[in-house]
Amino acid sequence: MGARAGLAGVGVRQPSRGVKLEDGDRFGVRLATVASVAAERRLEELAALTARITDCRACPRLVAWREQVAHDRRAAYRDEVYWGRPVPSFGDPDARVLVVGLAPAAHGGNRTGRIFTGDRSGDWLFASLYRTGFANQPNSVRAGDGLVLRDAYVAAAVRCAPPANKPAPDERDRCLPYLLREIELLSRVRVVVVLGGFAYDVCARAFGLRPRPPFGHLVEVPIPAQGPILADGRDRWLLCSYHPSQQNTFTGKLTAEMLDAVFARARRLAGELPEGPSA
Ligand code: SF4
Repeated sequence: MGARAGLAGVGVRQPSRGVKLEDGDRFGVRLATVASVAAERRLEELAALTARITDCRACPRLVAWREQVAHDRRAAYRDEVYWGRPVPSFGDPDARVLVVGLAPAAHGGNRTGRIFTGDRSGDWLFASLYRTGFANQPNSVRAGDGLVLRDAYVAAAVRCAPPANKPAPDERDRCLPYLLREIELLSRVRVVVVLGGFAYDVCARAFGLRPRPPFGHLVEVPIPAQGPILADGRDRWLLCSYHPSQQNTFTGKLTAEMLDAVFARARRLAGELPEGPSA
């Protein structure tokens, strides 16, 4: 959306000829304009952040791995050009629900360039987001496949595919500022759904949770209103879910009903809160 389009859009009312503008209207126009400009700046900053992420080469081990995988490719994807770079987040910038996973899969996000896209975990995640009303379609095959998220934004704690799905502590810490900045920019987020213990640990540290309850499916933890980020006094929650990894879904540790229950709960937590301005 260009700058002019934004100013001409949301909520900016122009007085019609010959109609006296009341003080309240003037005030309303000014507030709407400020909100529109702020929202537009937020979108630009999210786009700039995404550009920075996709160019990042800060972790030598992960850079080498993601590029090696992209070069070698899996036999089933032999004819595809892998993304082979850090995988940016995806979703609705006005989302009230942020979903945080571990890291892109070597032949999933690292191949398609979209988080949780093109692998079994993503099949489970987006099917559940569809069933619970956060996605317009149940499938997530490739970037540009028509998938649109509403009120949800999907990110990962670490943006590059790690060997054996295990980022090292220094890699986790190096990538954290991207998630922190994203959370700051996603100012409408009220519920952070963490998929698995790794994402829970990263988010719990980011939000300064103390004491930190043990991770468990459907465990929900209030985020401190005056924590290190988003210190605006609003109520927010961390909501835990088992990761939709094949290990968990094959063994029945996580069922489709259990995952749906997480997003249904996230919707309720987000919806129970009063609406704030979109800025
Ligand atoms: S894991 Fe994060 S910090 Fe490390 S190279 Fe990838 S994007 Fe950069």
